[in-house]
Amino acid sequence: MSVKSSFATSAAGLARWTLRSVLHRSGGALPGKLGLSIDPELIGNLAGLLDASVVITGTNGKTTTTNLIADSVSASGATCVCNRAGNNMETGIAGALLEASSARRRTAGTRRVGVFECDELYTVRVLPKLKPTYFVLLNLFRDQLDRYGEIDHTQDAIARALASSPATTLIFNADDPLCAAIAERVDNPTLPFGLMGATNTESTHIAESRFCSQCNAPLDYEYVQYGQLGAYECPSCGWKRPELSCWAQHVELSAGGYTFEVTDAQSAPMRLSTKYNGLYMVYNILAACVASCAAGADAALFQRVLDTYVPTGGRMTRWDVDGRVVASDLAKNPIGFDRQIQQIKTSGGRLMAFYLNDAEADGRDVSWIWDVDFERLGAAGDVRAFVGGTRANDLQVRLKYAGIDAQIVDGIGPVLAAVADESADEVLYAVANYTAFPPIVQELKELGEVCEGVAGAHGEAAGTGAVTGGADTGAGASAAGAGVSEASAPCDQAGAPAPGIAVLERPLRIVHLYPDALNLYGDGGNAIVIERRCAWRGIPVRVENIHMGDALELESADMVLVGGGADRDQLSVANELRRQRNELAAYLEDGGAMLAICGSYQLLGRSYYMGDTKIEGLGLIGAETVRGDDRLTANVAVKSAICEEPLVGFENHGGRTVLDASEAPLGTSLVSGTGNNGEDGLEGCMHKGLIGTYLHGPALSKNPELADWLIERALERRAVHGDADASALLPLAPLDDACEHAARKAAMGLLG
Ligand code: GLN
Repeated sequence: MSVKSSFATSAAGLARWTLRSVLHRSGGALPGKLGLSIDPELIGNLAGLLDASVVITGTNGKTTTTNLIADSVSASGATCVCNRAGNNMETGIAGALLEASSARRRTAGTRRVGVFECDELYTVRVLPKLKPTYFVLLNLFRDQLDRYGEIDHTQDAIARALASSPATTLIFNADDPLCAAIAERVDNPTLPFGLMGATNTESTHIAESRFCSQCNAPLDYEYVQYGQLGAYECPSCGWKRPELSCWAQHVELSAGGYTFEVTDAQSAPMRLSTKYNGLYMVYNILAACVASCAAGADAALFQRVLDTYVPTGGRMTRWDVDGRVVASDLAKNPIGFDRQIQQIKTSGGRLMAFYLNDAEADGRDVSWIWDVDFERLGAAGDVRAFVGGTRANDLQVRLKYAGIDAQIVDGIGPVLAAVADESADEVLYAVANYTAFPPIVQELKELGEVCEGVAGAHGEAAGTGAVTGGADTGAGASAAGAGVSEASAPCDQAGAPAPGIAVLERPLRIVHLYPDALNLYGDGGNAIVIERRCAWRGIPVRVENIHMGDALELESADMVLVGGGADRDQLSVANELRRQRNELAAYLEDGGAMLAICGSYQLLGRSYYMGDTKIEGLGLIGAETVRGDDRLTANVAVKSAICEEPLVGFENHGGRTVLDASEAPLGTSLVSGTGNNGEDGLEGCMHKGLIGTYLHGPALSKNPELADWLIERALERRAVHGDADASALLPLAPLDDACEHAARKAAMGLLG
């Protein structure tokens, strides 16, 4: 060890001792931070302490998988060095190594194995130094887009990390085309794992972009497990899920959780079972089993490891609070949250509390809650829901549009009090995101105790093997699901239509373009908002999802909605959109109502330059976009002519759009450095019935006036075309927008 490293080890050891023994605090990030400030090469210098090492990354399941691998390695007699405390950045990994280096000398013959959870973006700093033996890549889902940027950015970071450590074996989830695309790019040895065969246990409406990483064509799926995970093949260039080296098969879900077999081509299948019943757990367990065995653990002990596994920090935990079971779990992103909804639904849960914070570590942008299919819970009716956290208002609006009337609460105590009249057999589900979760767990610790020997958070659930949860959700529920959803029943929110109110002969036809490709930041929520606001007024409405390759006819359309997308998805969609140019041009020329968000707004202009790559736009508006060096990422407010209050939202884009002098903006930015290009103070554009804007949120969720502007526009155009029923629906019946306005006020508060 170098002098610098020894000094760093001693200083960090002293810091750790002081923190633990004197201040009675956990080691935290400080020892690692201190050590790295003395010796920036510390990780590389201490890597020699290890006989083997495994680094685990991916959007969801890192902590669980890391702990399972660590348990498995330890059960097999090795000394495990692990950042169990959850600091998954450089400092956490350095801290764990420092602790190991100052520990007493190991017994002769004992192997020392490093098992480190690593944040996706930190892999590029950790791998070149640690040069781990194995690198586990679990999955890549959209997550904290304001922090991570678009998924391509995360993929680039991981590919660069792997290239810096060419001998590291990449153990990756081949069911995830986004992970497989990374494997395709690097020369590292690989070990692909996945699930063999359709499980038919879970389905999801989430609009993940499922495109070929080689040629951008939409992928064909033999079956989807959830999100973009499944068995896929590109119909255009033939790229497909890599041949699996290890897989789980015969996956069965029963009341006791999942059972399945893990196998590779050589060994006899090993039967495993887990009391936790989310399909994601099967992936985590499979990855942990494959990686720990590769690192020398004894496969025969793995079931015992699973049986004794205790989730950390209140995840997947059941509590007994005065006779009521509370199931707590963490969910940080749409896929994670959606999995929770799925499980609440399959468990028949009625009592639920959701908490949402927007601290730095959570991601400031909460638009993603519109990607969570809360409608599945709303469809059941009779639920009692509560929302909390710094963005409780946003959750309340989201749930309102899913048909759920949620009460805002502070913590879990008031929820327990409010549901005291409910049967003691009813489980209360508490789901919170990153920084919202620990305070809830702390409260539960104070109010009750962990149920011993009971299955995980959602253990009892399930029923029979063929749970087809999420199957359907009622009108307009899904931004990207089935082709058409229709609604005319007014919700109790607005009451029945006033007697004598005209009812359209032909429902308003809302065309939602490419919801599976352009829905990166919850923009699909705009379709939900339009559909609900019509339905609440008794206006018959029909949302039609148009997918890539579908024929597009806009002659009978009343509104066109299209969302934003990552640069790569934009590339895929641009060709398709250009083919529809004439149809769209005629529609807009006729004054048709349209909302285009961010990526699609850019594509309506003449062109979008992404570095040297030029995407030809449709040229329907006088605008040019060029990708800047950084992203404009912020909570924003825009003064517009639409309503007195500013429009609020979140913007996150690399493109800078400049409007021709002849084009009118949607409004002016109230936050400097935001808007079309961060410079001229303008935001969006208004071109006849078209509104183009960078606002996510989704844009219509906290700006009901903008939604109603589009609905009015659609009805007015119908009226101009001679539909007398449409004129009778104008002006629009007012709705109770108290929740939306409260959320807007809260959003304005974020601007300071
Ligand atoms: N990819 C585009 C950009 O970064 C659009 C992003 C978006 O739709 N949010 O500018």
